[in-house]
Amino acid sequence: MKIIKGITAYFGNIYESVTTISMGMWITFKTAFFERKVTLQYPSHDIIDGGSKDASLPSKKNLKPPFEPLLGASQQIYKGPLNTELSKRYRGLLGYDELKCISCLLCAQDCPIDVIRVKGVKIEGRKGKAPTTFRIDYSKCMFCGFCVEVCPTDAVFFTRRFEGATFEYRTLIREFISPELYLERLQLAEVAKQKAKVKKVQRQKSEEKEQ
Ligand code: SF4
Ligand code: SF4
Repeated sequence: MKIIKGITAYFGNIYESVTTISMGMWITFKTAFFERKVTLQYPSHDIIDGGSKDASLPSKKNLKPPFEPLLGASQQIYKGPLNTELSKRYRGLLGYDELKCISCLLCAQDCPIDVIRVKGVKIEGRKGKAPTTFRIDYSKCMFCGFCVEVCPTDAVFFTRRFEGATFEYRTLIREFISPELYLERLQLAEVAKQKAKVKKVQRQKSEEKEQ
């Protein structure tokens, strides 16, 4: 019985090796000989929207598949499909929607390298806390996605933008809450605090009366 099992496993391994190697080789072969290599004219071509950034180049509307004007001369005979856009799932620079943020701090706590800094205050008419600080240090972010996954309101998300190169290191640290909004939020928080105090005093008084 043991011998039969051994022989079956032996041939099974051979079969698996041959099929997986063949599949890999087939993909390499197909790509090398049957698929056209495409060069998009970046940065004239906007690979996020699939359009043209350069006025001298035809716009996406006027482009006819397979987008010959954007291809090198040797590629113009290609008639197959051509994806001129980045994948929708592409993880680019982080985006942030302050209107959705409840300042729960989950993103900051889950970030393994302290890229995000959040602070918030309680104000009237806003669920959770309203952010007074939301800072992302793009120079450190490693696009792991923990913050995006943990955010309960989708306030922090991946955009498809990737052009973040700069000569100034400090410009990679972005504060999403403007100084004006920050001050406004602090004032509103103070108003909310005062109202809460008044309510508390009124409640205590009514409780004392009932006793
Ligand atoms: S993507 Fe990862 S590293 Fe970047 S801010 Fe989010 S949790 Fe931090
Ligand atoms: S996890 Fe989402 S809602 Fe919470 S602080 Fe971060 S961005 Fe705001």
